[in-house]
Amino acid sequence: MTPRRLTTPDLVLATHNPGKVREIADLMRPFAVAVTAAGDLGLPEPDETADSFVGNAELKALASATASGRVSLADDSGLVVPALGGAPGIYSARWAGPAKDFAAAMARVNAELGSGDRRAYFVCALSLAWPDGHAETVEGRAWGTLVWPARGTRGFGYDPMFLPDGHPLTYGEMDPDEKHAISHRADAFRQLVARCFAP
Ligand code: IMP
Repeated sequence: MTPRRLTTPDLVLATHNPGKVREIADLMRPFAVAVTAAGDLGLPEPDETADSFVGNAELKALASATASGRVSLADDSGLVVPALGGAPGIYSARWAGPAKDFAAAMARVNAELGSGDRRAYFVCALSLAWPDGHAETVEGRAWGTLVWPARGTRGFGYDPMFLPDGHPLTYGEMDPDEKHAISHRADAFRQLVARCFAP
């Protein structure tokens, strides 16, 4: 089936995270699409009850599209460690607990891995949904190796322990622009643009 393209001049970003709103609004700038945050429209945040990144991104995008009557974009992301059976995966944020302690979450990943295979990838699913229930969803990935001790104070989440393939610096040490050019979010965004935004 041919993918559906975005024909409206604006969309709702189904996230309540101001950092993501800024990052996605920046990525959208070349396409002259105005972005409104779901939080600013008073839309509720649905529970992430699906069992995959794609499922959670779709659930959030569809909830926003249905409630607002406008095309909506949502994302879901996390770190996947194959040697840990895919953990922390869709539970990446939850491993940091209510205090959002990512130093503890990284220490747990490192401890559970022990001498296991340190290959890992970040995933970002992006879903664009319409009020009639249609959704176009893509999944971007970025592969690397988990290092210990973690290195660098830039970035967020698991960045300091992630050494992307082909680069000497961890995401936590890299210039943010350099990270954004090679990240799982950039990969997903490129796919979504090719699918839904290109002329
Ligand atoms: P989400 O907000 O439900 O998508 O949760 C994503 C979680 O995955 C974040 O809290 C981070 O722990 C982790 N994560 C996703 N993307 C990145 C990244 O680019 N760097 C580091 N951690 C990330």
